[in-house]
Amino acid sequence: MKCIAEYHTHTKYSDGKSTMEENVISARKIGLKKIGISDHGYMHKGFGVKYKDYPKMKAEVEMLREKYQDIKIFLGVEANILDDKGNIDVDDYVRNYVDYVMAGYHFGSMPPNMRGLTNHIRNFIKPLKSKEIDYNTRALVNAMRDNQIFILTHPGDKGDVYIEEVAKMAEKTKTVMEISAHHEYLSKEQILKIKHLDIKFSIGSDAHHHTHIGMTEKAIKRAVSAGLASSRIINVI
Ligand SMILES: [Zn+2]
Ligand SMILES: [Zn+2]
Repeated sequence: MKCIAEYHTHTKYSDGKSTMEENVISARKIGLKKIGISDHGYMHKGFGVKYKDYPKMKAEVEMLREKYQDIKIFLGVEANILDDKGNIDVDDYVRNYVDYVMAGYHFGSMPPNMRGLTNHIRNFIKPLKSKEIDYNTRALVNAMRDNQIFILTHPGDKGDVYIEEVAKMAEKTKTVMEISAHHEYLSKEQILKIKHLDIKFSIGSDAHHHTHIGMTEKAIKRAVSAGLASSRIINVI
């Protein structure tokens, strides 16, 4: 099994260490057919892209498309799942600039209400973590219900979820579920629980440096050990 596309990569526009061009050059070097730039949504307090940067990012992607015509280059976003009401930090303005939306749960995002903030804190404190599983599950499920999401990133990372419930909504909304090489999720156990459903998966390096693009071995290993066929994964052959 081998990756032929990367949808989950970060750049200096959020917390990545490389430029868009460096990411593209690395992707070409390892023979990828497609590369997506998917920096963190703007409502992440530490890492988010600057809201006003979207036009600049789009222009940069367009310039790179001209320069490197042997690879398909996309501008995406890794939005933040902000609460359990279906809110993510993508509005019409952002949608207008990006080619696809991914979403995941991250500490450091700014929830629109107190309950969301409490959720961050409780997920952070081990003894309270297990008590947030209903909230976390609702957060992921409702984000997919209310938004057109291409890929749900690292489901279960930072907050436990009932993965079957999450996967059922992914099936209903045709949302792809990520197997992350950077995080431990989806885990082999999670994949085993949900692979009978009619869902697709994506392998993601979640590269924060251009040299990490294509470093997907850990995720591929989990997919293979859970018995996933390559036909179930959108970016491998
Ligand atoms: Zn993430
Ligand atoms: Zn990421």
